[in-house]
Amino acid sequence: MSSEIRDVVIIGSGPGGLTAAIYTGRANLRPLVLEGEPSSTGDQPGGQLMLTTEVENFPGFPSGVMGPDLMLAFREQAVRFGAELQTVKASRVELTQGSPFGIWVGDPTTEEPTHRARCVIVATGAEALMLGLPAEDRLIGHGYSTCATCDGFFFRDQDIAVVGGGDSAIEEATFLTRFARTVTIVHRRDTLRASKIMQDRAFSNEKIRFLWNSVVTDIVGESKVEGVEIEDLTSGVRQVHPFTGLFVAIGHRPNTSLFAGQLDMRANGYLQTVPGRTATNIPGVFACGDVQDDYYRQAITAAGSGCAAAIEAERWLEGTH
Ligand code: NAP
Repeated sequence: MSSEIRDVVIIGSGPGGLTAAIYTGRANLRPLVLEGEPSSTGDQPGGQLMLTTEVENFPGFPSGVMGPDLMLAFREQAVRFGAELQTVKASRVELTQGSPFGIWVGDPTTEEPTHRARCVIVATGAEALMLGLPAEDRLIGHGYSTCATCDGFFFRDQDIAVVGGGDSAIEEATFLTRFARTVTIVHRRDTLRASKIMQDRAFSNEKIRFLWNSVVTDIVGESKVEGVEIEDLTSGVRQVHPFTGLFVAIGHRPNTSLFAGQLDMRANGYLQTVPGRTATNIPGVFACGDVQDDYYRQAITAAGSGCAAAIEAERWLEGTH
């Protein structure tokens, strides 16, 4: 436990958290960033861009940039301005008693928090959803994946499937055609949710096939994926398809469980901030990035809101401390 009261602790290290770290660092607030720890449940220091390949729409990179390279650059820039980054996960927060706030790392039952801070910036992002099948736990990392970028390489010349009908599913399927022999998109309806340009890209890719009105009901294989049981919702017929890889791209869940009962949330679990601002219901606690954004969900909008959170935190500290 540290007796020091920090000006700012930032929880999360995606584009939102690290932009907040750059700005609060440059304001001489010596931010501490709890950047998280990698885990099988989807925790990812650096955020979701660590799981992507090429980012073509982040301004300033006319030829594109690899997601992990971009996040490394964010990180270096934050450190340059005095941010301290720790590769640990916050296990508990106490925000309701007001500033200074308590943040625990490790054992959440200890009386004293690990860190105390006048301001907290929440930037815990969102994580990939899974199908909820019992076989997922057994086969994740063994042919079952939520990250094409991480695992696509292992499926060279294989026949694999992607679940979902949104931009993520189409993006992942298109990326996977670099490796796989065929990629079958399994979608529960007969129309895609993905944007027109992404749809056109998929429809014109000769390696991509579609199973419409279909859902995955089981994954076959003890130690690796050997087949995927799929139900045709129109006929009710279930059939095992000989796919050796299954990628799931069905959306995301905000990482907000740490703040349950303390920070206001919308019905879908995303943090509620004052409209057009990053302020939460607790003065001195700000939220930025995907944890409070279920609409844009882009790296650049997360970075923009990280900047906003830092400026709001700075002004709040000036006014109250
Ligand atoms: P999304 O748009 O919410 O799409 C999720 C897809 O998964 C939907 O097609 C949904 O089916 C399906 N789905 C959800 N739960 C399912 C379940 N339990 N079983 C089977 N299918 C299920 O999520 P996303 O594709 O991750 O995209 C999220 C946001 O990021 C979007 O705003 C998207 O535009 C953006 N994005 C943009 C890009 C890009 O521009 N390059 C790339 C990725 C994501 P239904 O259609 O039937 O609901």
